[in-house]
Amino acid sequence: MSLTRSDWEQRATTLVIEGGAFIDGALRPAVSGATFDCISPVDGRVLGQVASCDQADAEAAVQVARARFESGVWSRLAPVKRKQVMIRFADLIEAHREELALLETLDMGKPITDALKVDVTAAARAIRWSGEAIDKIYDEVAATPHDELGLVTREPIGVVAAIVPWNFPMIMSCWKLGPALAAGNSVILKPSEKSPLTGIRLAALALEAGIPAGVFNVLPGFGHTVGKALALHMDVDCLVFTGSTKVAKQLMIYAGESNMKRVWLEAGGKSPNIVFADAPDLAAAAEAAASAIAYNQGEVCTAGSRLLVERSIKDQFVPMVVEALKQWRPGHPLDPQTRVGAIVDQQQLGNVLGFIEAGRAEGAQLLVGGQRVMQDTGGTYVEPTLFDGVSNAMKIAREEIFGPVLSVIAFDTPEEAVQIANDTPYGLAAAVWTSNLSKAHLTAKALRAGSVWVNQYDGGDMTAPFGGFKQSGNGRDKSLHAFDKYTELKATWIKL
Ligand code: NAD
Repeated sequence: MSLTRSDWEQRATTLVIEGGAFIDGALRPAVSGATFDCISPVDGRVLGQVASCDQADAEAAVQVARARFESGVWSRLAPVKRKQVMIRFADLIEAHREELALLETLDMGKPITDALKVDVTAAARAIRWSGEAIDKIYDEVAATPHDELGLVTREPIGVVAAIVPWNFPMIMSCWKLGPALAAGNSVILKPSEKSPLTGIRLAALALEAGIPAGVFNVLPGFGHTVGKALALHMDVDCLVFTGSTKVAKQLMIYAGESNMKRVWLEAGGKSPNIVFADAPDLAAAAEAAASAIAYNQGEVCTAGSRLLVERSIKDQFVPMVVEALKQWRPGHPLDPQTRVGAIVDQQQLGNVLGFIEAGRAEGAQLLVGGQRVMQDTGGTYVEPTLFDGVSNAMKIAREEIFGPVLSVIAFDTPEEAVQIANDTPYGLAAAVWTSNLSKAHLTAKALRAGSVWVNQYDGGDMTAPFGGFKQSGNGRDKSLHAFDKYTELKATWIKL
C-alpha cells in the first residue's frame, strides 16, 4: 500500500535523527563538542543537531581506519566473504527504504517518491552490484619467458576519504562506497553539511551487515574544515570527490601539498541536449528536455541545461517543451504526487534566482517560470524556468546553475551544433536526437563528454562508467572501471 502525504508527515514526527560522527562502529559527538543546525528546505524547520567535525575528528577517524586496514580484518578477507557482507548491506538499505527516503527528503528537499523509487533503489544497487562483482574480477599473468613468472595484481589502496555533495547524497556515497569497500579498503565518508543524515545512517546499517567497526566511518561537518583536514592528511591514500569544479581543483592542490594521495574527481557540468529536425519523436524529445532540467529541481550534475534546437523546428518544438515544463510544478516534497521539491537551502535558492535575473538582464526571453513560489511554507521553492533566444556566450549558458533553469539555443547545421555543444569548460554528458544513424554516431563521437545519450536523456545503469571529460573531472564511478580508483596495480616478477 502506498503512503499518503499525511502518512509521511506522521512518520516524520517520530523519525530518529542521528547527528553524530560515526567512528570505529559508534556514534560520537565531535571532539570539540561543536554542532550545527540541520535545516530542512521543505519548511525551514531545524531537524536536529549534527556534529561539526574538524581536524581532531579527522585524526581519530584516519587512525582507526588505518589500524583496521592493517589488521586485515576486512582488507584480507576472501572476496567471496566481502561479497556476502556487501549483499547483506544492500538488503538492509532496502529493508530501511522508507526511513532512508524520508531522511533524504526532509534533509535536502527532493520529492519523496523519487527518494524512495530512485535514490534508495540506486544506492542499494550500487552496493549490491559492487559486492557481486568483487569475486569475479581476475588478476593477470604476464606473457613471460619460460623461466620467469610475471603477476599483475590489484591490491586495495588503503584509507579512502570520500567527499560527496548534497544533490543525491545516498547515491553519490554508494557509488564510492560500493567499489571502495568491496575492494577491501577502509573508508571515511564526508557528507555535505547540507545533507548529512543518510550517510550517518548508512554507516550504522553497514555495521549491522557485518562490515567491521572502523572500516566505514562518517565525519559530518563543513568542507573547508573536516574536508580539508582529510584532503591534506598524510595518511589518507586516496581522495574521491563529487562536487563543484572549484572545490575539485582545490583538492588537487591539497593532494600536491601533502602526500600526493590519488585524487579522483566528479565535478560540474553544463550538458547540451541536441535536438535535430529529424528527431524520431519530437513529443518524446520535449518531455525528456523538460525532465532533464526539472528532475531533482535541476540539482543534477548532468542536467540538460542547454537545449540546442535546429532552427527549422524551433518554432514548433519550443512550445512543446514549455507545455511539458508546466507539468513540473513545485509541490510539497512529502506529497507522493509531487515532481519538483524544494531547492536545498536559502543560499542555493539565491543562486538560482540570481541566474534567472541574469538571463533577463542579458536579454533572453523568459517563456515559463522564473518565480519563487510556496513562500508561505517556509521552504525554498522555485518554478522550472525556460529562457529562449539564448546565446552560448550568456552567463546562463556558460555557468552551472544547479537549478531548474533551461537555456534554448538555436543552430543551423550539425557542425554548428557540435561547436556550440563543446564550447564549454565542462564535459560531463550530452544527448543527441536524430533518426539518422550516421548523424547520431558522428555527433556522439564529436562530443567531448563522458556520457552521450541518443534519442533519450540520462540512460545507463551500474554497468556503464560515469564521469567527465575536461573540467568535469577524471576517473569514473560505476562499472568495473570504478575499481581502478580503489586499487593499486602491482607487478611481481619471479625468476623461476
Ligand atoms: P561543493 O563542491 O560545494 O561541495 C561538495 C563537497 O565538498 C561537500 O561535502 C563540501 O562540504 C565539500 N567541500 C567544500 N569545500 C571543501 C574544501 N575546501 N575541502 C574539502 N571539501 C570541501 O558541491 P555541492 O554544492 O555540494 O554540489 C554541487 C556540485 O556537485 C555541482 O557542481 C555538481 O555538478 C556537482 N556534482 C557532480 C556530479 C558528478 O558525478 N560529476 C554528481 C553530483 C553533483
